[in-house]
Amino acid sequence: MDHHITKVSEHFWIIEENGVRSFLFEGDERAMLIDTGFGTLPVREMTAELTDLPVFLVNTHTDKDHTGRNRDFGPVYMHPAEMEHYKNALPEGCAMDAVRPLWEGDILDLGFWKFEVILTPGHTPGSIMLLERQRRMLISGDTIQDGEIFMFGAGCNMQAFQESLRKIEAMSDAFDSIWPSHGSYPLTAELIPKILQGAEDLLAGRLSEQEPPWPMPCKKYAFDAAAFLYHFE
Ligand SMILES: [Zn+2]
Repeated sequence: MDHHITKVSEHFWIIEENGVRSFLFEGDERAMLIDTGFGTLPVREMTAELTDLPVFLVNTHTDKDHTGRNRDFGPVYMHPAEMEHYKNALPEGCAMDAVRPLWEGDILDLGFWKFEVILTPGHTPGSIMLLERQRRMLISGDTIQDGEIFMFGAGCNMQAFQESLRKIEAMSDAFDSIWPSHGSYPLTAELIPKILQGAEDLLAGRLSEQEPPWPMPCKKYAFDAAAFLYHFE
């Protein structure tokens, strides 16, 4: 399996697995892992090598490429709007009674890091972003990225996605860097209006239809900044 660990800065690592990223932030008394990848990596053991502190798990959202090793952790924190989506395709070895709620505006206070929860539905019903105001960083999940943005199937809603991007765009004076789960990183807020334009062009029928990268019930619509995988009803 293609993977690697990058130490980005003091107390901050990225664990990369076949095109999906997990983030580890070490605080003063505990560390936070964001997402657990496809499940091919022993993420829990890997985090234990990077930090001696207890690690708790947060999911940006619960698609299968973000929850593959949730089973190796105790509680898993996510927005309540995401719980149904998680339950509908519960990863092997996971149980709903391990799920804990994270609400809009909650602060995940690690001491060194303080992340604020922002609800950004659209890609999934309860996708969240995490904003670190002091270090001016935004963890964006799958919603802001320059790769292929999955926007088809149950739980996806393009209008909600656009609304979430507008909400984050309005907060863009609070962060300098964006850390997405897929595509290149770090990104800047300049990408947000480009994705919004892409969404508008998609819905107006101005983007050309291509086949998806592998067989899926959608088409691919590329624009200059990223691409949508989308299915017109
Ligand atoms: Zn993903």
